[in-house]
Amino acid sequence: MPKAKVYKNFINGEWVESGSEETFENRNPADKRDLIGLFQRSNQDDVNAAVEAAKNAFESWRLYPAPRRAEILFRVAEILLKKKEEFARDMTREMGKVLKEARGDVQEAIDMTYYMAGEGRRQFGQTTPSELPSKFMMSVRMPLGVCALITPWNFPMAIPSWKLMPALILGNTVVFKPATDTPLSAYNLVKACEEGGLPRGVLNFVTGTGSEVGTPLMTHKDVKLVSFTGSTAVGKAVAEATASSFKHTNLEMGGKNAILVMDDAKIDLAVEGAIWGGFGTTGQRCTAASRVIVHKKVIKEFTQKFVARARALKVGDGRDPKTEMGPSINEGQLETVMKYVEVGKKEDEARLLTGGRRLTKGEYAHGNFHEPTIFGDVHPEMRIAQEEIFGPVVAVIQTGSLEEGIKIINETAYGLSASIYTQDINRAFVAMRDVYTGIFYVNASTIGAEVHLPFGGTKQTGNGHREAGQAALDVFSEWKVLYIDYSGKLQKAQIDVE
Ligand code: NAD
Repeated sequence: MPKAKVYKNFINGEWVESGSEETFENRNPADKRDLIGLFQRSNQDDVNAAVEAAKNAFESWRLYPAPRRAEILFRVAEILLKKKEEFARDMTREMGKVLKEARGDVQEAIDMTYYMAGEGRRQFGQTTPSELPSKFMMSVRMPLGVCALITPWNFPMAIPSWKLMPALILGNTVVFKPATDTPLSAYNLVKACEEGGLPRGVLNFVTGTGSEVGTPLMTHKDVKLVSFTGSTAVGKAVAEATASSFKHTNLEMGGKNAILVMDDAKIDLAVEGAIWGGFGTTGQRCTAASRVIVHKKVIKEFTQKFVARARALKVGDGRDPKTEMGPSINEGQLETVMKYVEVGKKEDEARLLTGGRRLTKGEYAHGNFHEPTIFGDVHPEMRIAQEEIFGPVVAVIQTGSLEEGIKIINETAYGLSASIYTQDINRAFVAMRDVYTGIFYVNASTIGAEVHLPFGGTKQTGNGHREAGQAALDVFSEWKVLYIDYSGKLQKAQIDVE
């Protein structure tokens, strides 16, 4: 057996081992015999070194002209583009999503890098006339300093890029801690940044667990902003740990997203949307459509077709072009799925319509595979309709009207994404107005965000910020307002007005 490659941390422009002298394994969830590599199991000392490097680099990086920062980002985007296929294959191997989706993940990082490189020549502020003569005023963006980026495994290159690229283009420096399940995709992104010519210390990369790296990082006194994407439970811990120091926090958390299918919907289109939303990325998307709310007049037809399509899905290794749904990321996540299947079976009236079992035989013997699973006759308040499962489990719920459907969509703790299938423009507009989520689709699934509009959710999905789009600039900068008085005399705003 060839020895597994050992990957290092990236601190102050050098690839270094952790002081802990320990590593952790990165294994393929489709075949756990496949050891991908060993990554540094870092500790507080590594975090301190990374933050210090980022703090020192900030002084020159903030003064580096933004259009020149952009030139580096453009080069990074070109490298990502050139290596897209290699990076997508690495991603599928380490986290299981089918290759087409992994290519999409890398593409999203490419898009975000080009997009934010464009911001090197924008970052517009405002100028507006003063109420006083011979006075000029304007607003400019300032970087914050050292930003801690803590990311999940389900979009292992896209999500880090949503944070990293706006942070860098605005003149911040970064310490990046990726999820323990997907350090290779994070490494690939960091390597592309190094090759693109990012100066030493501007981006630092420390692998390891949430408690050993994430916690010391988010509480470090020199970290000015924590940008976190992950579960609501950990997001709450981040919010609490950072509150007393008034660090900026940007939290993107869980979801319990819904598709509403009206009686005038194109049913086949809605079924395709529900399949993609429910089982794409094995249901492991924050925007996954884990609830489908269907008008009673079409629920029978919809459910029959939906179940038939789910049954026919080819589950397997994401690297096989025939595979339509890959494995769960790890044993723990698979256990959560199985636990919720049991919860669903015990709910009073809910009916298991298809799936419900772990796949263990033949090609599935060494991976974390589960059948695509659908429950019917689910009531909106049941646990499987309220709690984020993060796996291939969909709850079908009946509604009698548009208003009831919207109410069901809104009555969960989360507010990330939702959609409606209807041919009636009036119904579509009512839903667009009344659904309280950060993202809403008409005649499309709950999935499909583009990088140049804001991404994020309401309620327990987020804390009021948005990633991507122009909104990301507000997360990674502060406004400074400048007043220049060239009248040569003391002028007082408001008071001088006759
Ligand atoms: P997670 O919360 O377990 O971990 C996220 C990151 O936080 C990882 O890097 C982890 O190591 C780190 N972490 C864990 N405990 C920590 C601690 N105590 N202190 C500091 N850091 C800690 O989430 P996950 O399992 O990686 O990802 C799945 C979750 O992410 C789901 O809930 C999903 O909905 C959510 N998600 C949200 C979005 C969004 O934009 N809203 C996008 C993708 C995923």
